[in-house]
Amino acid sequence: MAGKESVRQTVPDATLIVNESPLSRELSLGTTGEVSAPRPRLRVKKLPPERRRRKINVALEPAWYRRLILRLKEDPQFLRSTVQSAFVLLCIWIGFEFYLFMQWGMSAGTEPFVTRPPGVEGFLPISALISLKYWMLTGMINVIHPSGLFILLAIVATGVLLKKAFCGWLCPIGTLSESLWMAGQKLFGRNMRVTPWLDYPLRSLKYLLLVFFLYAIWQMDTAALKYFIESPYNKVADIKMYLFFAELSTFALWTVLILAGLSVVIKNFWCRYLCPYGALLGALSWFSPLKITRTKETCIDCELCTKACPSSIKVHKVGRVWSDECMSCMRCVEACPVIDTLQMRTSKTAEAVPPWVFGTLVAGVFVAITGMAMLTGHWQNNISREEYAKRFQELDAPVYQHFQGNVAPYGPHD
Ligand code: SF4
Ligand code: SF4
Repeated sequence: MAGKESVRQTVPDATLIVNESPLSRELSLGTTGEVSAPRPRLRVKKLPPERRRRKINVALEPAWYRRLILRLKEDPQFLRSTVQSAFVLLCIWIGFEFYLFMQWGMSAGTEPFVTRPPGVEGFLPISALISLKYWMLTGMINVIHPSGLFILLAIVATGVLLKKAFCGWLCPIGTLSESLWMAGQKLFGRNMRVTPWLDYPLRSLKYLLLVFFLYAIWQMDTAALKYFIESPYNKVADIKMYLFFAELSTFALWTVLILAGLSVVIKNFWCRYLCPYGALLGALSWFSPLKITRTKETCIDCELCTKACPSSIKVHKVGRVWSDECMSCMRCVEACPVIDTLQMRTSKTAEAVPPWVFGTLVAGVFVAITGMAMLTGHWQNNISREEYAKRFQELDAPVYQHFQGNVAPYGPHD
């Protein structure tokens, strides 16, 4: 989750840092453990006092609600933490409702009935991609997992408009990943840095996974897409997913534990190397008009932005951050000590988008698209309570299995 680094970065003094030594650089920037190898001499330009970015003292506000509003407006990481927490709470609520629904289904109806929360379809990305292609080919929104399609559309829209802001502001797995590396940093004083010769091939893994899924879906024609969407397997895909995690095999448990362990020592291990959603958003982020933009004329080359970046992007070297790993987390913007030097912009000359506006856009795009699905009746699926009760009793039947990505053959009455 977003928050302050365990060691705060020190804003360079206007008179202090000119042609400093590597040692004085370590002292002046603080040490997060990311920079350990001997580095070339850093030449930080003089920062005129009138160009220094001042932080507003929120504590001076007497009323608590004004303090809260001011902090949300002035502190990008507080705002991001708030949005992330709200989204995590929403996912926990969805998970709890789905748990109650499962209790009803698995008890053959002896437990009280709770409506299945449609938001759970956000965790069925393959089904959603298939729905997306079916919608693009036929113009029809499937009635089995309609909310999954709209959640995917909302995620894609954030990627096209706001880079990988979904990963940095909304995704519960991204929030968990961030919490884990921050915990690792607190625990060990630093996170491990993967050397570039290993980092680049590892980063391509998520693209290979994405290409694998996209290629499999690309090969499906309209009839095959319809056959998958209406299959008994797809109708209970969310239930199967729940059972997979509720009855985790030893192999799956070890996989989860190893991934969690790696996420503690390496920043965003899952998101950076393995998440196909991250790959999709990384590719789409190239189209985003909004990018972190550096004004070279006022930059003092202090490298605080690069040091703050959890994605190891050399922000201080570029005019615009095009990297597919940028999650729009705004840590670099917050770290920059110079007024109007590092900002989210559509171009180098365009007006800057303040972090609070950006955060509102991220949440707004997501809420607008999913809200539209709710308002137009494309949120709940058309599987009745009676049909679910019947299917819960048949979950182990061959017709609910799939083999190497293909659903089992089924008939009109399955
Ligand atoms: S470049 Fe800035 S916004 Fe992008 S990931 Fe790095 S710190 Fe976050
Ligand atoms: S853009 Fe980066 S290098 Fe330039 S002043 Fe801001 S923090 Fe320092």
